[in-house]
This record gives sequence, C-alpha cells and structure tokens, in this order.
Amino acid sequence: MIRTHVLGFPRIGAQRELKFALERHWRGEIDAEALEAVGRMLRERHWALQRAAGLDVVTVGDFAFYDHVANHVLMFGCEPARFGFDGGEPELARLFTLARGVAAEPVHEAGCRCVGEHGDAGRAALEMTKWFDTNYHYLVPEFGPHTGFRLASRRLLDEVAQARALGHEVKPVLVGPLSFLWLGKSQVEGFDRLELLEVLLPAYVELLVQLRAAGVAWVQIDEPILGLDLPGAWRLAFERAYHALHGAGVPLMLATYFSALEDQLGLACRLPVAGLHIDAVRAGHELQAVLDWLPQHKQLSIGVVDGRNVWRCDLDRALAQVRAALERRRADVWIAPSCSLLHVPMSLAGDAALDDELRGWLAGSVEKLDELALLKRALVEGKQAVGAELAAARRAREQRLSSARVRRPAVTQRLAELPADADRRASPFEARRERQRARLALPAFPTTTIGSFPQTAAIRAARAAFKRGELAADAYRDAMREEIALAVREQEALGLDVLVHGEAERNDMVEYFGEQLDGFAFTANGWVQSYGSRCVKPPVLYGDVARPRPMTVEWTAYAQRLTARPMKGMLTGPVTILQWSFVRDDQPRADTALQIALAIRDEVADLQDAGIGVIQIDEPAVREGLPLRRAQWGAYLAWAARAFRVAAGAARDETQIHTHMCYAEFNDILPEIASMDADVITIETSRSGMELLRGFGAFRYPNEIGPGVYDIHSPRVPSVEEMLVLLRRAAAVIPPERLWVNPDCGLKTRGWPETRAALRHMVEAAARLRAEAPAG
Ligand code: GLN
Ligand code: ZN
Repeated sequence: MIRTHVLGFPRIGAQRELKFALERHWRGEIDAEALEAVGRMLRERHWALQRAAGLDVVTVGDFAFYDHVANHVLMFGCEPARFGFDGGEPELARLFTLARGVAAEPVHEAGCRCVGEHGDAGRAALEMTKWFDTNYHYLVPEFGPHTGFRLASRRLLDEVAQARALGHEVKPVLVGPLSFLWLGKSQVEGFDRLELLEVLLPAYVELLVQLRAAGVAWVQIDEPILGLDLPGAWRLAFERAYHALHGAGVPLMLATYFSALEDQLGLACRLPVAGLHIDAVRAGHELQAVLDWLPQHKQLSIGVVDGRNVWRCDLDRALAQVRAALERRRADVWIAPSCSLLHVPMSLAGDAALDDELRGWLAGSVEKLDELALLKRALVEGKQAVGAELAAARRAREQRLSSARVRRPAVTQRLAELPADADRRASPFEARRERQRARLALPAFPTTTIGSFPQTAAIRAARAAFKRGELAADAYRDAMREEIALAVREQEALGLDVLVHGEAERNDMVEYFGEQLDGFAFTANGWVQSYGSRCVKPPVLYGDVARPRPMTVEWTAYAQRLTARPMKGMLTGPVTILQWSFVRDDQPRADTALQIALAIRDEVADLQDAGIGVIQIDEPAVREGLPLRRAQWGAYLAWAARAFRVAAGAARDETQIHTHMCYAEFNDILPEIASMDADVITIETSRSGMELLRGFGAFRYPNEIGPGVYDIHSPRVPSVEEMLVLLRRAAAVIPPERLWVNPDCGLKTRGWPETRAALRHMVEAAARLRAEAPAG
C-alpha cells in the first residue's frame, strides 16, 4: 500500500501571519491567548491543506511559536537554571525568554544577516545556530551534569487533541533523543552530553506512552544526525536508545534527511523501529542498499520530492524510485518530501512577482503536496489515470531545461574557454603588496569599515518610494548621492584610512546583485523562516548568470570623486550569492558558482578601470556551504575558493582585494581561506573571540588581516582601551605590518551617534598602537 505524508510543514503562514502576531505580542499589543489563537488557526489551515491533498496523516508537532528545538527544551523541562524560572511563569513567556533573553531584541533589523547573541549576563538568550546545512536557525539547548528531564509540557498532546477533534488522523513528530542531545551544547567544559541519555530516555518514553493513549498510531522521530560523521559512542547509543523507546509500544517512523547514511545505513535499518524515512533526493543512490538491508516487516518512507528547493518535481524519476521500492517491499511504502517543508516557501503558484513561465517551473509547499497526491494516484490507479498531469509536469521541466532564459550559449562558451590561470593574480602576494603600498600609501595599522553605514529611516523610505515608482530615478539617485556624500564626510572627519560609500542603495547584499544579473528571479511572497519571526526571501537562481551592465561602478566612482583617500568598492562574492539563493538543480553548484564569479569578475574589472584601487568581495557564507560529511569538504572548498579567485582574478597587482567573513567558525578551514588569496581579510572575532586569533597563531595566514575590534551588534560604544587590548593580542599572533583595524561587520543596523563614537575610539586605538609599536 502507498501512503503519503510530510515530515513537516511551514509554520509561518501564507501571509506570514505568525510573524506579525509574534511581533505584536512582543510589543504588548496582543496577549498570549490571542497569539495562541493565531497558532491554532494556522495549524488548522495547514492540516486542512494536507488533508485536501489526500495525505494519509497530518503532521503535528512541526508547529512552533519560535523554534521546534526550543519546544523540546520546554517539553522535557530542561530550561537552563541560569534563567531562574520558578515554575510559575507561563510556558509562552518562558519560551520567549529563552529565545530572546531578558532584554527585548535590540539588534537585528531588516537586511541584517547576522545571528548574534544578545541580552546580558545570566539571562542572555540561548545561542542560535544553523540547523544542519539550512538557513534555518534553532535555539541551542544547554546541557550540564545537573540537567534533568521530565515530561513538562502538554503542548504537543494538546495539538494532537486539536487535530483529532478536527477529524484528522495524526502523526506527531519529535526530534529524536540523540539528535536533541547532539544539537545542544555542554555548559561545562569537558562534560559529555551523551551522559544525559539515560536520564532523558524516560521522558521520551513517558511522552510516547501518552501519545499512544491519545490514539496516535505513528510517531515520526527525526534523527538527522544519522547523516553526519558520528563518534563511535554516539553510534552505539542509538541501539540502546531505540530499544528503550520501543518499550513505549507506539510505532516509530525514524526520519533521516539532508545527507546519505553511508556507514550508518546498516544501523538505521537495524534499529527497533517500525519504519525508516530516507532522503531520496540527496541520497537517492542509497535506495537500493536500504531496500537490501531494511527488514521486510518495516515500512519505508521515501523522500522523493525535494524539500530543500523550489523546482517542480521530476515525477518520472520519483515514480521510478518508488516503483523500485514497491517491487521489493512487502510492507507499506510511504512517499514524502525529502525533509520538512520548513525550508521552502508556502506557495509559489500564484506569486505576483513571477511571470507565468517561471511560475510553471516552481513548486512551493502547497504545490509539493499536490505532487505527492499525483504520485500516489499514478502508483495506485496507474499512470494513465493521471497521464495529462504527468505530461504537463514533464513538459514544464523539459521546457525549463532547454529554455533560452536558462541556457545562454555565450555563458557556457565563456566558461569553456576560461583560461586555466583565470583564478590567479599576475604576481604572488609579496609582489602585489609592494605595488599596493606604493599606490595606496597607507599608514601602519590602517583603519577601515566593512561596507555599510547606518540604514536610516530616510534611506529606507527613499528606497521603498523608488521601488513603488513614487520617486523618480534621478530624484532617487540624488537622495542616495547625498547619503554617500554624508558617509564620506563622516569618514574623513573620523580620519579613517580606507573609505567606503556606505551601501545606502542596497537593501540586501545578495538581492542587490541578483536583481541586476540575468538568471535570477525574485518572488513577491516566497518567504522562508530564518528564525523566530525572521523570514528571508531567497532569490531563485534559475538560469545561466550574466551581467548585462555594471552594477556598482556609478555609486563607487561617485564616492571616490568626493575624496582623495582610497574608496573601497564593495561586492558580494559568488559563494555567498549561491548560498543564499535557491539554486538550479540542472547543473552542479560548482558550475553555477563559477558563472556568478564571472559576473563579479567583470564588475571588479570595471571598478578598477574607473580608478578604484581597493575592492572588497564579501564571502560571509563560505562556511555555511560546507557539506555535512567531512569527506566532502575538500572538494567543496576547492571549487568555492576557486570561484572567489576567479572573481578577484581580474584585479591587477596594484588593485588591493579584500574579503570579509563573519559569524561562523573559521579555524578549521583557515588554509582554504588563505587559498582564496585575498590581499586583506577582515573577519569578525567577537563571536569566536580569542579562538580565532589562536587559529591565526597556529596557522600562519600569509596575507593581511583585520580582526574585528568591536561587536557591531550592540549600541554600546567600546572604549579605546578595550579595542587596544584586542589589538595588542592580535599583534602578538599576526605580524604587525599585516594588521588592519576595523569593526566586526557592517554598520547598517546601527545609528549614527554610536557609530561615530565607536569609530572615533577605533581610529584613536589605531593611532595609539602606531605610537607604541611602529610597524612595517
Ligand atoms: N559589506 C556588507 C556590510 O557591511 C557585509 C555584510 C555581512 O558581512 N554580512 O553590510
Ligand atoms: Zn559581516
């Protein structure tokens, strides 16, 4: 028999209802009961959509007011003691305290990509980090030797009751105990959180027993860590854990996704669970092995519809995969998206910003439900029953793959003819440095910023009016020029050495470039949750990338005309553009990255010809692109670094190339970062702190480095002394003649008064350093 289900559904709402309700609640405009009502309404709608598509069960437990991992912290009563909850606080209030700390969310604003910790001292929010290789951030549970667990919340049981009252057959979903522990962090150095498994399992068993009592026939239990490189002890713990859960007597569908099981395939097939879900989009090559290994009495769920991307499903491929399973299986076969649909927009079928042709190529969550329904009919009733629909899907796909909008012979030809040394600068760094020094005549410990200056209300209003067509192009240009002139005046008054134009004209560092490049489309409503109430609208990179005309030259050249100091051109790098977009699935990501690199390369050449001597190519997302399995890191890093070098490769020796990275761990990929061969890297250090400097100490980074000397997430103005302390520490591991002085990241979320004050201190710190340790 064929059954259909989803592993999870977007929770934010078709019109981002949850976001707006949350923000109203946080502003005190609606109370908890009103917020709960919005949650109930959204769940009801989303279940109705699943039911309407004929799914055999609706999924419960994928809803969260902030984050599903945080839900488990509350469900199992393991809020860190540092929050000092006394048990009297309502659950929602505790959730939002965990998520946001005691101070209200002060730091993130539209367009800020950074994920920082905020609040202070003991009641700072839980840390946030990326959910595997997605752009979704979960709240990191904190575990210590004294962490205890108990079934502490009825929320999931209440949601099950809500769904059942609506007449649905339900399948609750949980993050499995091992993934839950793995995703957390140890509060105490040296503490192994796996030690908590024995005390955690009874809470899971209790929950499962109650779910069974509530009439639940299946529980989906997610263990995505089965797709990671696991230490032996964690691998061993799976058998123990699942024998314990088996005792609860409710059939479990063990869900794996995002990567292949590889050496853990046998283990996953062997565990005492009633079913196994595999990601047949990313790990389709393992299907045969799973069919060999999975005992016949177990049910198999095959994730054939891509839960990570927006393309319509290749239904012929999906059907072939399911048929292969049906031939070999006696138990039921379930079909599903590869992973939760949390990572794709709610719907794209009616998106107002897309033309008909593009819309016809895409599938959001709702459309993916229809694809499941169609697949099921084809399997149950035979292909002929849905022949027209299958043919239409096939046509749309073929048309996309051969469309002149997708395939541009000029781009392919340019790639094919790309000289082997296109990714090399003319001379090695030491020689380039001499030419750049002669040209730029910078002092020791040169000061600069990362690119953006405060995005004031006036700037945003002007941009919005321009986009709505209410502000004429030349009036908009004048307004932006005024902002640029202001930023230049401020920087000159501060005495910064390398200036920037301030990025007033940019809403977002990827969108700004995507909008000007061929091959990218933007949706009106393709929102995807990033964390809490924050959503992003990734561009859809559907075709060969080309740059019809310069994208930044006019602004940058204008800024340069206003000052005698070097003006740094500001570009976003190919890997970051790739990483923050929905990317085409008809060619390797490496090829797409290279196409973007060529467009950026042309921009570098044009900036250089316009007299710009310093160009920064931001690559904050390099680390995010790392494959989940370490064995694949090398290949990825090789093409990612090459794409960057191709982008920078148009720079003549005397043009100084900067790159910038932030908010990730970079220590374990320092050699690859060095291989990008930027003349200068500015890098955030507040999050990784001294760790990063230690890394630079151990690995002799060959070029120049600007470790951030202050955190831009806080309006607090650090003192000259604080920055000096950091700089002296940096100077101990980085040769002083290679040290730059700059903030951690862009300043767009800050206001002018604190920006001015902090930069004044920064410039002063650099001056004091020059006085005490003349370099170079
Ligand atoms: N140049 C960008 C800015 O300053 C960099 C942003 C980022 O690293 N996320 O805003
Ligand atoms: Zn940054």
